[in-house]
Amino acid sequence: MDSKIELIEEFVKKNGYRVTDSRRIILKFFVENDGHYKPEDVYQLIKNEMLGIATVYRNLDIFKKIGIIKEITIDNKLYYELDMFSSKKLHLHFHCKSCNQIVEYTDQVLIQSLLKQKDFIEENYDNIVDDITIVMKGICKDCRRDINAETDEVEKNSVYTRK
Ligand SMILES: [Zn+2]
Ligand SMILES: [Zn+2]
Repeated sequence: MDSKIELIEEFVKKNGYRVTDSRRIILKFFVENDGHYKPEDVYQLIKNEMLGIATVYRNLDIFKKIGIIKEITIDNKLYYELDMFSSKKLHLHFHCKSCNQIVEYTDQVLIQSLLKQKDFIEENYDNIVDDITIVMKGICKDCRRDINAETDEVEKNSVYTRK
């Protein structure tokens, strides 16, 4: 068994929760898939008759509370991703409003500037930052290309009709 999963299961127990079969299945899902998932996605991708959508919701809530997964809100929808033992720990999100994909950036330049901002907040406002969630929104390169192609097409047609 993946030692990462074992460590997380230990952590669940330490927080006073039992490691039930459904919890184990959900944890395994997040350890093996490092995307951003809505509760319905988790439910549909796992597809296990033992696991109902209510159980998924309930356990995501618990895992979030004890810090195993992290919640991000995009367009009023909640997404979850692995936080504990995640290799990509600190990253920035970009959400394309057209195709709905979420990409992550972990470039050192971005991370360094994020850490600088974190230090600034801690030093100047005496707060302790333990999480940073940034979601930038816009239109991705592929969608912009599609949109441009469509406008070109429209322009060509209008030239044609003018003739
Ligand atoms: Zn993320
Ligand atoms: Zn897009």
